[in-house]
Amino acid sequence: MEKSKNFIEQAIDKDLSEGVYTTVHTRFPPEPNGYLHVGHAKSIILNSGIAKEYGGKFNLRFDDTNPTKEKSEFVDSIKADVEWLGAEWEDRLFFASDYFDKMYEYAVKLVKKGKAYVSDLSADEIREYRGTLTEPGKDDPYSTRSIEENLQLFEDMKAGKYEDGSKVLRARIDMASPNINMRDPIIYRIAHLTHQNTGDKWCIYPMYDFAHPLEDAIEGITHSLCTLEFEDHRPLYNWVVQECECPNPPRQIEFAKLYLNHVVTGKRYIKKLVEEHVVDGWDDPRLVSIAGLRRRGYTPESIRMFVELSGISKSQSTSDMGLLEYCVREDLKPKAKRLMAVLHPLKLIIDNYPEGQTEMLDAVNNPENEELGSRQIPFGRELYIEREDFMEEPPKKYFRLFPGNEVRLMHAYFVKCVGFDKDENGNITAVHCTYDPETKQGTGFSGRKVKGTIHWVKADTAVRVTARLYESLIDEEKEVYDEEGNVNVNPNSLELIDDCYVEPKLAEAKAYDSFQFVRNGFFVADAKDSKPGAPVFNRIVSLKSSFKLPTAQ
Ligand code: ATP
Ligand code: MG
Repeated sequence: MEKSKNFIEQAIDKDLSEGVYTTVHTRFPPEPNGYLHVGHAKSIILNSGIAKEYGGKFNLRFDDTNPTKEKSEFVDSIKADVEWLGAEWEDRLFFASDYFDKMYEYAVKLVKKGKAYVSDLSADEIREYRGTLTEPGKDDPYSTRSIEENLQLFEDMKAGKYEDGSKVLRARIDMASPNINMRDPIIYRIAHLTHQNTGDKWCIYPMYDFAHPLEDAIEGITHSLCTLEFEDHRPLYNWVVQECECPNPPRQIEFAKLYLNHVVTGKRYIKKLVEEHVVDGWDDPRLVSIAGLRRRGYTPESIRMFVELSGISKSQSTSDMGLLEYCVREDLKPKAKRLMAVLHPLKLIIDNYPEGQTEMLDAVNNPENEELGSRQIPFGRELYIEREDFMEEPPKKYFRLFPGNEVRLMHAYFVKCVGFDKDENGNITAVHCTYDPETKQGTGFSGRKVKGTIHWVKADTAVRVTARLYESLIDEEKEVYDEEGNVNVNPNSLELIDDCYVEPKLAEAKAYDSFQFVRNGFFVADAKDSKPGAPVFNRIVSLKSSFKLPTAQ
């Protein structure tokens, strides 16, 4: 079935057919002031996807024009995240700060055209003169300075003759414009700060609304895709590229941000959780930072599917975490091997199975995917099963083990419960069964039927590992933020299990290897805490959910 085109693709088709552009060139322009999150993934996948679809180019550009809060640590993490998502910038990696000279020249050009002037108004005065949504602004008293005077003052600003905040360069547009962004916006400010890339070369820095369109134009971007909050800035974007006389000016198109219900996405808020040690770093598996999602076991394919299903549109909406979970389940279902791991162990003793004997059984790795083959698993007299798979007094419709009941041990035999042991406190310490050698899986036995199948591991060959189960980082009962703007953290967001018993094969897992633990969910070997032979497993997602995929429109 042909995919219907979104409104951005339709606009590009139109531009190409009318000859406005002959190629397509997009970019992802992160500010290196934090780690990327799932919202940025939408922008990355959209921009790189469009370039690929039209046989065009895609740039990764660091928007590092603000010297106060940027760090090279973030440059490295952003590159790793964009690459992991599968967006290929090849040799087109750029830094906006490399264009400071060109931007300065463009500003000088505006001054020479009488389209920009130096103002001595303070920040407060500028705000006051700007007017409001209902009142027009008032002319800046410095707007009458001559071009010569402005050129000299701007040069002196650059030369470091003035204090921070004492002067600014403003674009001369229209103080009465109904769009406040057009009321002589500031395009350069003085800031005596050291920049991570340009050092102390500059003490004036361009404002975002001036810098961004020029960055796009300098790189030959055709379609500058950005989020909706910049819609009101588009007239200014167009004014800048027009008045600076950029050849083949780029075109800005806005789309709705990706938001997740009941999840912390904003960079600022994630940063706060990291700084307050509520989470274990930017890549904590409970976060929706790209690094956190990767460590949690999400795949690039699942994130791409999620972005696609969430849709590209101009109307704001929020997506459900359940949809993201659905996507990773769908992706891993055919890809991941299904092995056995017991999260909450209880000893099961098969009284009529010879002591000291080990039998190797054949187990298919994924019945939905033959290519994943099969493995041998050891079976013997003493096993571990899940504590919840035995009940002394079962409720109705409980089909697992209880005295007198028979179940199937997955990949093995039928066993019937003949008793159990208790300690002095009344806790069950072991379950006793007998097995029926006739019922070995794969022997064609078609006698009795049993209603329950449970998983197990052989006690003396199983490997004890740590497993981590997660819940939402946010308290489900509460709003995301409290009145003071702090995150309402769920105290049970992490459950640590240090006596999880797994099949021997699982002990060989390496960082990022993911599996289905039958009946328990999808798990990944943690990239930070796993050691050779001693993996730590993160639960990516459980197997079932109440989430319903919205029907296609
Ligand atoms: P945050 O709002 O989380 O702090 P940001 O907008 O400050 O993020 P930038 O580094 O400026 O982060 O963003 C880089 C690009 O990612 C921009 O083009 C921006 O529009 C886009 N982007 C940011 N958040 C989202 C989102 N939630 N959904 C889609 N695109 C986003
Ligand atoms: Mg930003």
